[in-house]
This record gives sequence, structure tokens and C-alpha cells, in this order.
Amino acid sequence: MNQILRLIVFCAACVMSPGAWAANFKTVVIDAGHGGHDNGAQWGKIYEKHLAFDTAVRLENRLKQMGYKTVMTRRSDYFVSLPRRVAIGNSHKNAIFVSIHYNYTWKRHVTGLETFYHSSEGQRLAHFVQGSLLRQTRTVDRNAKFARYYVISNSAHPAILVEGGFVSNEEERERMKSGDYREAIARAVAEGIDRYRRGF
Ligand SMILES: [Zn+2]
Repeated sequence: MNQILRLIVFCAACVMSPGAWAANFKTVVIDAGHGGHDNGAQWGKIYEKHLAFDTAVRLENRLKQMGYKTVMTRRSDYFVSLPRRVAIGNSHKNAIFVSIHYNYTWKRHVTGLETFYHSSEGQRLAHFVQGSLLRQTRTVDRNAKFARYYVISNSAHPAILVEGGFVSNEEERERMKSGDYREAIARAVAEGIDRYRRGF
């Protein structure tokens, strides 16, 4: 009976503080979506590949300042296949994989931020990052969600794919044109990664 009671208390603690354990990793693999002939989402001269790369570089700078090792799957505007991105990530030990994208839909009124995961550790990481994104940008919460995107479902590491707003929405497009907004996204992702590592 005593043992059962202890088990119940233990499980309640698990449910009440799902983030109360630290993650052990040293390297963050940063994957700037698209590149080269693959522009990603596009509106006029606004290309997702450029927005994602700029945000990825800002994220890299912030993570380095915080003491993390970083790896970039691309270093400028060239094409990298999805299997190659995964292979780069999986070639590093004690790592997490963070893919940066901007969104598009034909429904022009749709706005907000979303973070995708595939594994359960990816889910924990996604919740920390999505929480930080909302605090830093005060925009619409499209939640942390399960998805089978290639780069996250084939990663050997905790992996997420961040969608930093909709290129197809006029208001968000104007925001993401500014370095301040992309810096806010980078700051939020870095903060979420650090909170995931610390466990709170
Ligand atoms: Zn994309």
C-alpha cells in the first residue's frame, strides 16, 4: 500500500512538472530551410530561403554566445538535399536538430507561429521553443505539433522544425522583412533551446 502511494505521488510529480529534467547535449545543428533553386515560400521578391538563412545565422550567433557548439547544414544560398541535411545532423553526437522555416498558405488571413516535432524528446524541445516564441513575438499560437517532415522524422536527435510566420500574410510579411523581427525569432529559439537543456 505504501509503495502504491509512493508510486502515485511520483507519477503526479511527473505529470505536474513535465519539464523538470535536463537534457544532455552540446551541439545544435541549425538547418536553414531551402536554398539555391529551392526558394521555399515566395511573395514578390520575399523568399523564404533568405529569411530562413538570415534567422539561422542570428540563431547561430546567439547560441555561440551562450556557449553552444553549432553546425550549419548550409552556409549560404545553395541547394542541400533533405537526406544530406539529415546526414550532416546525424554525423554529430550529443546534438539536437533545429530546422528554420517561414510559412505559406493560399488563405492570406492566416497568421502565427508553429513548431513541429516527431519524437517525444522533440516534443519537449518543441514546447520550450514554442513557448519562448510566443513570449518574444506576442503573436498567434499555432502550437507545437506532431508532423512527419523528412528532416525531423529521420533525425537521430531531438529535432524540431520552426515556422516563423506566414510569408502569405501581409502583416507578418512586413514584420519579417525587419531584422528586429528575425532577431526576435532567433532570440526566442535560442532561449527555448537553453530552457530545454536546463529542464525548466
Ligand atoms: Zn519551408
